[in-house]
Amino acid sequence: MTDVAAYALVEKDGGFVPTTIERRPVGAHDVEIRIAFVGICHSDIHTAREEWGSVEYPLVPGHEIAGIIESVGSAVTTHQPGDRVGVGCMVNSCRVCENCLAGEEQYCAEGNVGTYGAVDVDGTITRGGYASHVVVDEHFAVSIPDGIGLDVAAPLLCAGITMFSPLSHWGAGPGRRVAIVGLGGLGHIGVKIAAAMGADVTILTRSDAKRSDAERLGAHHFHATGDPSVLKGLRNTYDLIINTVSGEIDTDRYLSLLRLNGTMVNVGVSPLGYRARFGSLATNRRSLAGSGIGGIRQTQEMLDFCAAHGIGAEIETIPASMIDEAYDRVVASDVRYRFVIDAATI
Ligand code: NAP
Ligand code: ZN
Ligand code: ZN
Repeated sequence: MTDVAAYALVEKDGGFVPTTIERRPVGAHDVEIRIAFVGICHSDIHTAREEWGSVEYPLVPGHEIAGIIESVGSAVTTHQPGDRVGVGCMVNSCRVCENCLAGEEQYCAEGNVGTYGAVDVDGTITRGGYASHVVVDEHFAVSIPDGIGLDVAAPLLCAGITMFSPLSHWGAGPGRRVAIVGLGGLGHIGVKIAAAMGADVTILTRSDAKRSDAERLGAHHFHATGDPSVLKGLRNTYDLIINTVSGEIDTDRYLSLLRLNGTMVNVGVSPLGYRARFGSLATNRRSLAGSGIGGIRQTQEMLDFCAAHGIGAEIETIPASMIDEAYDRVVASDVRYRFVIDAATI
């Protein structure tokens, strides 16, 4: 075991404090990564504030990890010291169920092992990327292409793949109208990726505050949804709607925006659940779906796609001492568009 520096929450209502945590010895198939940057995902906040259920403290969140390989185990073939790599939301899975074999480890029948707060195969509790180093199985470390900075790449490891996966699965591309609900960490990367795929992209956000950013991010249309008449005017318009909102939305109102055979995909995970009013599904053969992150193979595909299209996150880099303040600002939608912790400050 090696002690490494980390920032942890030791109790629900306390703030983040500097501490040390143990990382396992580097096993034959493990890589040890010196973390350079780690993004703050809204899921870190839902978890830390126990909005999704109780948490075992100390909690070290962080599943948007970008860094450099420091050492590798004796059997590692995919990476070597000095490589630029990323780790996302999972660090293990059973590898043998039909979903794992299909490259969809996120849907492992045994449940994937989350990067933090999960029970690993050796029985220990995983601790995430708000730390100086992490040790993971080589399979769960993806390569970050040279063309993307590690700071703007970090958020791609969760936000990027969470948007890329449904955009790919539901065929975002030329001739397809895609709307993204909520312009936060996930939403802004989704806009960039959907536009690069060739889709006609609309941002649906609550107010006018982010209007000036819409075009720069690549959106073709922008609507502020605070006024309910705006959504009425958009009925029967979209082939695909991706809901990234971290709170509850009126699902039925958004379903009514789908044109024939359209699909709405929830990736946002409201701690409040959703009101079950799905009357609009009956029109236009609409579908309501969900999607969770993406598999390792697709995560690599996403990073290669982003590098080829010059896509990275729009970030505000902060020292680890500002995590608490950053959490409050994310909840207030006051971030443009992802906080990234400089791991050198941990
Ligand atoms: P974020 O940066 O906070 O963005 C969420 C956006 O939702 C905000 O920018 C805001 O957009 C909108 N919003 C927030 N509260 C709202 C409300 N009460 N009503 C309407 N709109 C509201 O969060 P994020 O990191 O992108 O994560 C978004 C959600 O996705 C979280 O629930 C997170 O846990 C979940 N998530 C899921 C997956 C997955 O695999 N399915 C992966 C990562 C994250 P506007 O200000 O533009 O309206
Ligand atoms: Zn996340
Ligand atoms: Zn499995």
